[in-house]
Parts: sequence; C-alpha cells; structure tokens
Amino acid sequence: MSSAEQPRDLAPGTQQLHGGETADLEVRPVRAPIHLSAAYTFESLPQAREVFAQRQPGFKYSRTGSPTVELLERRLAELEGGTGAIATASGQAAITLTLLALAGRSGQSPDGEPHPEVPAGHVVASQRIYGGTADLLNDSLAEAGITVTWVDPHQPDQWRRAATPRTRAFLVEAIGNPHADLPDIPALAEAAQEAGAALVVDSTLASPYLVRAGDLGADVVVHSLTKYLTGNGTTLGGIVVTTGRFQPSADPRRWPQLTQPRTRFGGRSLVEQSGEDGALRQLIRTQLLNDLGPAMSPLNAQRALEGIETLDIRMQRHCHVAEVIAARLAADERVGSVRHPSLPDSPDRQIAERDFPRGAGSVLSFELKGEVDAVERFFGALQLFALAVNLGDGRSMATHPAWTTHCRLSPEMMQAGGITLQTVRLALGREDPEDLWADLDRALSAAHG
Ligand SMILES: *Cc1c(COP(=O)(O)O)cnc(C)c1O
Repeated sequence: MSSAEQPRDLAPGTQQLHGGETADLEVRPVRAPIHLSAAYTFESLPQAREVFAQRQPGFKYSRTGSPTVELLERRLAELEGGTGAIATASGQAAITLTLLALAGRSGQSPDGEPHPEVPAGHVVASQRIYGGTADLLNDSLAEAGITVTWVDPHQPDQWRRAATPRTRAFLVEAIGNPHADLPDIPALAEAAQEAGAALVVDSTLASPYLVRAGDLGADVVVHSLTKYLTGNGTTLGGIVVTTGRFQPSADPRRWPQLTQPRTRFGGRSLVEQSGEDGALRQLIRTQLLNDLGPAMSPLNAQRALEGIETLDIRMQRHCHVAEVIAARLAADERVGSVRHPSLPDSPDRQIAERDFPRGAGSVLSFELKGEVDAVERFFGALQLFALAVNLGDGRSMATHPAWTTHCRLSPEMMQAGGITLQTVRLALGREDPEDLWADLDRALSAAHG
C-alpha cells in the first residue's frame, strides 16, 4: 500500500490553519454573515485566468470586492435607484476615484492610455462645499493635473460659463456643507449635458431617504457612509453609485478611457467589456480601486448595512430636531442669519418643497452676533453638543468651519463660501430638541454675558 492512499495526519502547524474545515456544515443565518477573507479560492487555474482577464465574474481578492461589501453596494444602488455601486474606504476615496475616472489624464488622451504629456481634465465645482473636497481639488487632484473652477451652486449660468473643452465633471452637494444650500439639480444636469460633462452629486448630507439625485439628473451619486447612512459615528466608508444616465458612447472621443481599446483590458474597450453603463464602474473598480487601494473592509460594510436598516426613521428624527432648532435660532436676537431650507425666508425654500419633500437634513449654520471672543465663549459653554467635526451621528455636534473643516481655504474661497469667524455649524443629532435648545440657550447667553 502506498503512503499516498493513506489519509495522513497533519502536523500541528498545518492543523492550526486547516483543522476542522468542512464544506458541508449546514448553516442558514438570518443575517448575511461577514465574509472576512482577504482572498477567494478558484476552482481551477483556467477559472482564475478567466476571472483575472475579466471574462468571468468572481471574487479574487477583497481589495476589489467581497460578498459583504457587494451586498452593501447592491443595497445602496437599489436605495438610490441606481444601476450599480462601488464601496470605498471613506467618502473622500469615493470622490477621489470618481474624479480620477472622469477627469484624469487618460480621459484626455486620444486612446485612453496614460500619456504623461497630455494634460488632465477640468472640474467645475460648487464653492459651498465640504472643506475636505475643496482641499482634494485645490491640492491633491491639482497635483495630478486636474484643474478646478469654483462657482456658485445657485447660478447654473456660472457653471455653463466655467466649462471648457477639457471639462469632464460638474461636482455639487445635494445639501451643501456647511450652509445646507440646495442647488437646482435638474438645472445643473442640463448645464452639465450642454458642456458634455458628467454631473456628480455628493448626497452625503441628504442620504437616499431625502433625495435620489439620479432621479433629478445626476450621472453619479457619491456618499460618505460615515455620516447618516451608518448613522452612529463609528465607521468610515464611502460609495459611488452610477445612475444609468451616463452614456460614454454618445460622444466617444470625449471619453477615450471608456470607449477606446486599452492594453490593460485585453485590447478591448471598457464599454465593449462591461457595457455603456458598467464601463465607468469597471474603470473605478478594476483600475483605480485596485491600483490605489482605498478598499472598504467587510467589517465596516457590515456596520454600514446595520445602520442603513434604520435610515428612514433616523432621518425623520434628524429633520424634525433640525427644524425645531432652526426655528428657535431664527427667532433669537442673539443670533444673526440662520441658514436652513426649512425656514420660511430661506432662498432655497422652493427647491426644498419641490425636491426634498421629506425634509432638508439636519445640518444648519448661523452667524453668531459679536466678536470672536463671544464665539469662543459660546463653544466653551456647550455641554450636550460635542465640539467635533462629524455629522450624521445620533449625538449633536457643533463646529467652527473657519478654524476646522474649512481652515485650509484661501480667504477668497472662504468669502465666496460664506464662511466667517462668526459662522457656527450645527449637525443636529437625535436627542430631545428641548434639551438641545437648553444647551444652545445657555451657550448663547454665555457668548453675550
Ligand atoms: C464627511 C464628508 C465627506 C468625506 O467623507 P469621509 O467619509 O469623511 O471621507 C465628503 N463629503 C461630505 C459632504 C462630507 O460631509
């Protein structure tokens, strides 16, 4: 009898890794399990070859996808009414990958291959935007050659005039950070179409419960999952959702990175490989996410999935709390202008009624009357509000944009963005509004005491 036919006892070092493994344990958990595996096995070498050549679907290594992350992607695509999604390690990564895919250097070269001498594309972006996005465009993407023009989200004509033959993306927030500005998304979608650019909407402050930007004309919707979608301030994450509107073959010379055969993709174009709608997602997943690496962990995907289960009731509560506090602040003499679309004199009231029937979110800003020392006394007196820069948590937070989230903006951009040393941003949580008001009332008295 040859030893090859005898089942061999495995040595302890191997048992540590393979002991107890079985393929036939019958488990049917109610909740989808967390697939915490960096890699996935192939049935055979030919199958591995086909998956790597992207001729067959399949998980290979969780930088580009895992079952837990895929469930999150499918759930968010469905909630947004989109056609597919790519999860990322953070909201910042979602915006970065989207803009590199649309406006990176390969999108300006005749064949979509990277040519170092070809200039990258151009982005037109709202000047009333999250400070991290402003930094990304002003510094890191600028260093990669992508140029930006900042414009007023309320003036679609400014967007039209800012567009150049190199423009590939318009970027706006569905609800602006920090002032809760509501842009006219359908009007910007029209302007983007005229310019031949894709409209990218960062819907972080809205969540898909308050608005589905794709229904209003967005080509791509991005979110920081860190905020309302996960909803408890524990976990960073991001998502890019395609809405099915973007059609690169309608103007193939404008999108060579998607429509021209590429060496990297086996001599085929991404449109040929993945279709009109899937091409952009393929570029983001199989090139940018794979090469740059900002992948979402399956553990974080599970946290986001748990959070999303209660999104609707949380958003209702957030909006209610924000509306109560906005109205109290607006009626208070110690406070200058208050910006929230729920207020009767908000310039965005009409857009709020048309596009945000469920509420306009729980971020608001106001101008504190007085000098900077009054602002310092205000923050010093807050007890329930955390002095912290997150939003979308159940806990309310107050921050000072000029010295924190927006501190790297130039004085010109700070002014264009309507941020002064007296600007306070509140991200209302889900506490009782009376307790929150008592805290603000005390802090406003301290500011003016
Ligand atoms: C927080 C935030 C981001 C960045 O998301 P991270 O998950 O922190 O990387 C992007 N856009 C908006 C509007 C945000 O509030």
